[in-house]
Amino acid sequence: MKNLTLENITKVCNGIYHGPQEKLQEEVTAITTDSRKVEKGGLFVPVVGERVDAHRFIPQVMEAGALATLSERTLEGADHPYIQVGSSLQAVKDIAEFYLEQLDIPVVGITGSVGKTSTKEVIASVLKEKYRTLKTQGNFNNELGLPLTVFRLREEDEIAVLEMGISDFGEMTRLAKIAKPDTCVITNIGTCHLENLGDRDGVLKAKTEIFQYVKKNIVLNGDDDKLSTVKEYNGMQPVFFGNGENASVTCENVESRGLKGMSCDICLKGKMAENGELQTFHVDIPMPGRHMVSNALAAAAVGRLYGLNAEQIKNGIESLEPVSGRFNMIETGKFMIVDDCYNANPMSMKASLDVLQDGLGRKVAILGDMGELGTDEAALHEGVGVHAGQCRIDACICVGPLAAHIAEKASQTNPDLTVIREKDLESLLKNLNTYVKPGDTILVKASHFMKFENVVKALQEM
Ligand code: ATP
Ligand code: MG
Repeated sequence: MKNLTLENITKVCNGIYHGPQEKLQEEVTAITTDSRKVEKGGLFVPVVGERVDAHRFIPQVMEAGALATLSERTLEGADHPYIQVGSSLQAVKDIAEFYLEQLDIPVVGITGSVGKTSTKEVIASVLKEKYRTLKTQGNFNNELGLPLTVFRLREEDEIAVLEMGISDFGEMTRLAKIAKPDTCVITNIGTCHLENLGDRDGVLKAKTEIFQYVKKNIVLNGDDDKLSTVKEYNGMQPVFFGNGENASVTCENVESRGLKGMSCDICLKGKMAENGELQTFHVDIPMPGRHMVSNALAAAAVGRLYGLNAEQIKNGIESLEPVSGRFNMIETGKFMIVDDCYNANPMSMKASLDVLQDGLGRKVAILGDMGELGTDEAALHEGVGVHAGQCRIDACICVGPLAAHIAEKASQTNPDLTVIREKDLESLLKNLNTYVKPGDTILVKASHFMKFENVVKALQEM
């Protein structure tokens, strides 16, 4: 890894090097926190977790051919190089920041309350039409995940698309200092993490901490009432995408193709158009939901900022591949499962219910508790219940104590809707086969801690 010699690593993380001097100039080949994935010549970072203290894997990773390891304590009698640091977690951040500076690869940093991963996927799918693109795998978006993603970059890569997720003030500043995005994209300002951020203005403030480190472009969802108020920052005029007046990347003729996806005409205006005036082209987005149109517009904006033409943007959007747990359509022969179990919040749950309406057969929503909503959690679940009651769906199965609020409002809003309450995952799994019938389209959605991947699995096995 470029310039990541043991000497430089020791320096950037203010560590103490223990080991033979002649190894100091060797570059590590990889950096990992997973003892099973250590490569020959790699650096192992032992993280102290709640259950496991990874320091105990140090002997075995050295045995497996690691060049060196970090360690938060002195290793008595060690016969291999190691760098002693105050905190492994701080060290990975410092090393990632230094490494990214050495590579000097432009970073597109994506944040927002909802849709970061989905937007990251479309943006990467577009950019790959022109550049060798590295993207965050899955949801590695926090103060550990972001550095680990940075460590996957190599000199051949031409651009990095990094997801950045936060739950408190100050966190974005730390992430942005590592990533120093060339371009930042904010998808929306929602109601996640209100327990720390207070209200949506707090969320706006926390997310926009990213601006301090943005080098060139700020790309914002112009349809979001909070984001649309953002003015220029450090000489950077935001590029807005969406339907509003302010947007230079907009769309028209939006149509749903059911669960197959959406289609629309993307319009590029002014500087965003190849001809500097106005340019329109058609795209078929291979993922359902109106929100995917918004995500595709973000990708079109980023594509234009990096010199892609309309054809490349169209190809990139149309070749988007689904990600497990995020609106992943699974046809089992019996059911069409909409596996959206990875995560949930009020905004995304409503969006998913909207899409479910386009399914074939009976439309069944299996909804679980949404976490981290702060003191308004009951009301926010009720809001989803009202929405469920207004949707053209046939049954709504609500699992968990918070989801009971969804059930209550759903039946009040639409007394004809079949509403079922289950107290937890276990009781749901016991009764599941009585709630679904062959031919159903079934949405499975809850916060991650509800472990709804087990519901998807159970449905697949029926
Ligand atoms: P996390 O905080 O878990 O990383 P995220 O911000 O990465 O979440 P995604 O995983 O992309 O969000 O999307 C979560 C869900 O929200 C998706 O399953 C989808 O239903 C919905 N969604 C995706 N994009 C948007 C959007 N732009 N607006 C509203 N809902 C969206
Ligand atoms: Mg995500």
